[in-house]
Amino acid sequence: MIVTLKSDADAVSVLRELTGRGLWVARVERSSSGSMVHYVIAPHSQPADPKDVAGIEGVAEVSVPRPAHPLVSAQGPVVNVSGVPIGQTKPVYMCGPCSVESEEHARETAEVLASLGVAFMRGGAFKPRTSPYAFQGHGDIALEWMRRAADATGMRIVTEALGEAHVPIVAELADLVQVGSRNMQNFSLLKAVGKTGKPVLLKRGMAATIEEWLLAGEYLLTHGAKGVVFCERGIRGFDDSTRNLLDIGAVALLRHVHRLPVIVDPSHGLGRRDLVLPLGRAALSAGASGLMIETHPDPGVALSDGPQAVPLAELGAVLGGLGAAEVFG
Ligand code: PEP
Ligand code: MN
Repeated sequence: MIVTLKSDADAVSVLRELTGRGLWVARVERSSSGSMVHYVIAPHSQPADPKDVAGIEGVAEVSVPRPAHPLVSAQGPVVNVSGVPIGQTKPVYMCGPCSVESEEHARETAEVLASLGVAFMRGGAFKPRTSPYAFQGHGDIALEWMRRAADATGMRIVTEALGEAHVPIVAELADLVQVGSRNMQNFSLLKAVGKTGKPVLLKRGMAATIEEWLLAGEYLLTHGAKGVVFCERGIRGFDDSTRNLLDIGAVALLRHVHRLPVIVDPSHGLGRRDLVLPLGRAALSAGASGLMIETHPDPGVALSDGPQAVPLAELGAVLGGLGAAEVFG
């Protein structure tokens, strides 16, 4: 926001009025003739109604620059995915394995999730693995296993389109298309996913600023995505005690300032199953609209991300600890 002062304004009194509203001046600029003074309001200021600010004695004009991501700014806090609203008060859970390992694995997972009232099954068919020698996912067939298991149990599916070649099949079989952390700024993928017209779960790049994340969301919306749900999954920190640094501040900012739906993934955020519950609670308190949680019937034999997987048999206790009323109500 830029506040322009009248030539005869009492600058001290205008400043007092602004700071009284939680508006902090980042810079003072002068018009080229030197006659007009503009206060550029700092981004960490409180949200304010421009009409109210324009009414301050001594203020000539208030202008609000067009946001860099107008479609994201206009999207609103709720995205509907196959009949499930994400962004309302009831948290939405997306649970399941890192990788879908067999048809039986998908079916067993879906049955447990459905019995717990979880809305979405997650699971990877195409896996972004750091090592080319690590398990890469079962591909198309895993999507079909997941779809059959989900249809049999009334679940929705969220799964990742790792590259442009996977976009058509993922868009056909998934309810919510996931763009992974490593692909947040893969602009051709964002365009291709946007063009499917599907809702998208956009994971934050591990070294992405919030502004870059919002602009990646803008790519999706401008190419036709039905809605963007943001997913905080941890950024790279300097300390390897946890797998990543879960940015709870970003969650509060997206929810309470930008008014956007944000899901938190404490599994990839921390890399440890024992911290899913406390960080899940923190995320929901900060304004997350739901959580993504990795599970496995037997994490010791998981083909990927075993250490962070909550044993399927223990998921009910974790969800109960997060607020049984929301899960089972
Ligand atoms: C995942 O959710 O399967 C995944 C690979 O996550 P991320 O992109 O956050 O690493
Ligand atoms: Mn994983």
